[in-house]
Amino acid sequence: MIGLVPKKVYYESGIEDYPMGRELLDKYSREKVELIEISNHNNIPELRELPDSEFVSMKKYLILGIRKTTRLIPNDKSADFIVPFTSSGCSAMCLYCYLVCTFFKNSYLRVFVNREDMIEQVKKKAAKLGMERVYEIGCNSDMVLENLLTGNLRWAIEQFAQIEHARCTFATKFADIDSLLDIEHNGHTQMRISVNPAEIIRKAEIGTSALADRMKAANKMFNAGYRVGINIAPIMLLAGWEELYHDMFEELKNGLDDGLKRNTFFELIFMTYGLANEQINKAALPGTIDIFEKEKMKPKGREKYCYKPEISSEAAEFFIKRITDYFPEAAISYIV
Ligand code: SF4
Repeated sequence: MIGLVPKKVYYESGIEDYPMGRELLDKYSREKVELIEISNHNNIPELRELPDSEFVSMKKYLILGIRKTTRLIPNDKSADFIVPFTSSGCSAMCLYCYLVCTFFKNSYLRVFVNREDMIEQVKKKAAKLGMERVYEIGCNSDMVLENLLTGNLRWAIEQFAQIEHARCTFATKFADIDSLLDIEHNGHTQMRISVNPAEIIRKAEIGTSALADRMKAANKMFNAGYRVGINIAPIMLLAGWEELYHDMFEELKNGLDDGLKRNTFFELIFMTYGLANEQINKAALPGTIDIFEKEKMKPKGREKYCYKPEISSEAAEFFIKRITDYFPEAAISYIV
């Protein structure tokens, strides 16, 4: 994890025109972090030219920029709209990370300082539609992690609390939620805690919070009045997966509060793996487990793989049965 102090900060010219830009520049200058001015957060030649093996070092950098496109994107899964929000990328290193398929080795954390432009889009859409809709703010990053550096998740929850008809949602693999517990959220925010077996988290979700800590965070958020969902993602059908996931369900049953278990919902997402992941993992993360079992997978678009349908549908039955047995009152929102 990036820690509270990044190793270097690359900042786009013009961010000082925004309060968040000024605040972050002041903070990192006080902390004596090396600040490097760039003209475009999407194209940093000195980082683009580094070899893939520098992926781990680059994850310690923070990029500050201005988001150019803030238009909402319709969605039909966890939300009605995806909000291009205040960050993309992340400082963790999950072996399957979907962002690596887009940004390759440059999937470090970028924070966009023009948050007012983004929330304005939500306010306009909510006023125009005049009916309750859910807005996903964590699609391109992990907002709980970003919040440690910027406070932007806290700010977003406070903003959504006041927007009529708008509900905010985000998924997270991090447990650092204590600063969110005292917010007057007005029931307008839901968190989906992402889970996997403890052993898979340790071996494949490098730099994220442990399962036990994620469960404690879920309980605290539920007891602070937030709606809390459980996102089993990505489901990885590695050798011995039935036993691993059986143990995970046992841990969830024993570790989650009864009220949360009665009121939660599940999302099930099978792993997609990209050739970009394979290339980066081999170059930068030697000694990590191989999660690409080609014989179980089939091509999905260009340069990505997903589980063969006969394999994922049999596994889906396993998960539906466990959820029905362990969480009889919980809904399953979708399986993909
Ligand atoms: Fe990627 Fe999410 Fe893992 Fe970060 S926590 S590396 S964004 S999958």
